[in-house]
Amino acid sequence: MPELVFFSGTMDCGKSTLALQISHNRSARGLQGVIFTRDDRAGEGKLSSRLGLVTEAVEVTEGMDMYRYLVDRLSRGGKVDHVIVDEAQFLAPEQIDQLARVVDDLGLDVFAFGITTDFRTKLFPGSQRLIELADRIETLQVEALCWCGARATHNARTVDGEMVVEGAQVVVGDVNRPAEEVGYEVLCRRHHLRRMTRASVRAGVLSPDVLPVTSV
Ligand SMILES: [Zn+2]
Repeated sequence: MPELVFFSGTMDCGKSTLALQISHNRSARGLQGVIFTRDDRAGEGKLSSRLGLVTEAVEVTEGMDMYRYLVDRLSRGGKVDHVIVDEAQFLAPEQIDQLARVVDDLGLDVFAFGITTDFRTKLFPGSQRLIELADRIETLQVEALCWCGARATHNARTVDGEMVVEGAQVVVGDVNRPAEEVGYEVLCRRHHLRRMTRASVRAGVLSPDVLPVTSV
């Protein structure tokens, strides 16, 4: 049976690498997939991993009907055996519904990769809809560690290395940007709640004894 599978994780979980691996393994077996992505760090219409691998992808635009796109491609004689979606958290909930229809009506496997929660620990709308509709959810093994050595399970947004909790849900950034820009850092839940980033601890601004958030 075809499935809608949601591979969920944090920013540093290596999901794009896994997406590329699945794509590669399937094409080695003669299977052809359509790869969708949105706002990949390598630019429009690209799927890239931190290891530097890049492949062509279809950029998902706002309001794009992904079901219709695939029906059109199939009706023009295109071969599609499966669908891979990276950065699925940026998709609109309606687009996740379209992916479910791709599984049910077109009989294709859909593998969606996405970050579960935003920098405020809230679900992205696309990820929420995936959790609601997916046949299966695979939580990706966390590769990254918090500065304290614990598993990094939460995404923090930083400006000058300091954690911020205000701002739009989507600001495209990367974890290895220069410090004065908006960046991201993955932290354990404990240090996310206490807003303790690597830089703030190094600067001695905060210590574990002095909690910046009195309610925690
Ligand atoms: Zn920590």
